[in-house]
Amino acid sequence: MRLVWLLLFGALLSCRGGEKPPNIVLIVLDTTRSDRLSVYGHERKTSPFLERFGSSGVRFDQAWSVSSWTLPSHATMFTGLHPDEHGATQENFTISEDLDTLAERLKAKGYQTAGFSNNPWVSHRVGLTQGFDHFSEMWVVKKTREKTGRHATLDEIDSWKETVLDDDEPFFVFVNLIEPHLPYSPPVDTGKRFFDSKADYQAAGEHFQGAGKITVRHYQGTNPLTGEEWSDLSALYEGELHRVDQVTRKVLARLEEIREGETVVIITADHGEHHNEHDHLGHVFSLYEPLVHVPMLARGPGFTAGTVRDEPVSLLDIAPTILHIAGADTAGMHSIGTDIRGEISTKRALPLTYGWPQQVLRGFPEDLQSGPTLAAHRRSLRGAVYYPYKLIRGSDGEEVYYDLRKDPDENVPLDTATIPEAIRAAMDSAAGIPAGRSDAAAPDSETLPEDEMDSTTAEELRLLGYIE
Ligand SMILES: [Zn+2]
Repeated sequence: MRLVWLLLFGALLSCRGGEKPPNIVLIVLDTTRSDRLSVYGHERKTSPFLERFGSSGVRFDQAWSVSSWTLPSHATMFTGLHPDEHGATQENFTISEDLDTLAERLKAKGYQTAGFSNNPWVSHRVGLTQGFDHFSEMWVVKKTREKTGRHATLDEIDSWKETVLDDDEPFFVFVNLIEPHLPYSPPVDTGKRFFDSKADYQAAGEHFQGAGKITVRHYQGTNPLTGEEWSDLSALYEGELHRVDQVTRKVLARLEEIREGETVVIITADHGEHHNEHDHLGHVFSLYEPLVHVPMLARGPGFTAGTVRDEPVSLLDIAPTILHIAGADTAGMHSIGTDIRGEISTKRALPLTYGWPQQVLRGFPEDLQSGPTLAAHRRSLRGAVYYPYKLIRGSDGEEVYYDLRKDPDENVPLDTATIPEAIRAAMDSAAGIPAGRSDAAAPDSETLPEDEMDSTTAEELRLLGYIE
């Protein structure tokens, strides 16, 4: 009987007189490295909106992804699981239907759930639409939607608001914006800001048409990019960051007005991008900071405006935070995940993974896929960050530690004896062992053959450089 009263009391407290739980918005800026955003101190004004957003909420300065590409990172945000647990990697493209996803758990709590994805790696094809009442795969939508001059995602969100949304119930909205992903083609108004002249911007844009080609050219090594090309590539990327910053502002203007002051917004990235650091381009073959150090910003009920936090956070924290906000349960999620509104331990070893790059290699011409040029990259990677220490371990046996505070560019491997034993042990366990594999052990069944994809998805993947 006493238990019944306690439960009733608890239920009353959680309703707080019928008060609705807040609306929740999760925006993922695909391919956005934090150090190139002005909200994180970059000298060029790439993110004026995020700067304002940051001062009206909380900016997390030490945030890491769990991987360096779209699929495992989103799957972690959508499940609260480590990539080993949800299983979506380079070699297995779908998450199991048996997993309880973030959207499913929110739906069970009475939330309306809607997703708007601009990346085919976040789609029904890989199981990531589980639990969404509404999911717009924008590359498909764009084929039918009339061109209005506005961003198609904004029009799609407007339609959803008009035709699907019930204003009386709380909602969870997920948006993936892909602008900073290769190929970089910022519109003129944002692109030219990062060049000396409009003509320079136009010339650079024309020079770099096509994504796969530039990555192949770089890793092939026979025709290396010149200094000017790197600088143009970087300026185009910054134009895309500015563009995605402005689209984010417009997305939020549409979503936050529905219940002003009662919407929690979390903005982060699935991974970053290399522009020649450690000889890398794009987001392949690496777990260095340009790929795994991501932005994370949040505002709304529970986040104190104007706060900067420097405790380490991870994409593993996204699902538990959102579920706690909604009053939903987090059973079965990875034990390290925590609600980032509250106290966050500084003694955390955050895991990083990069599977054997089978999918990436498929994007290269056949002779390169198994030839000597890419031999050093045919390996899987595991890592961990226990700030300020970082470990990167390859399936080829390489193992390096860095001190990110003293050596943020990861150039000087540490003498392991200088790292406290307990910290090393925690990193060792968080990283785990990278699985090796031989080239011969790459059966075709583990790829996503083109003929199984609809042509629009294949076209989009080709445009993004994932398939030849
Ligand atoms: Zn991505």
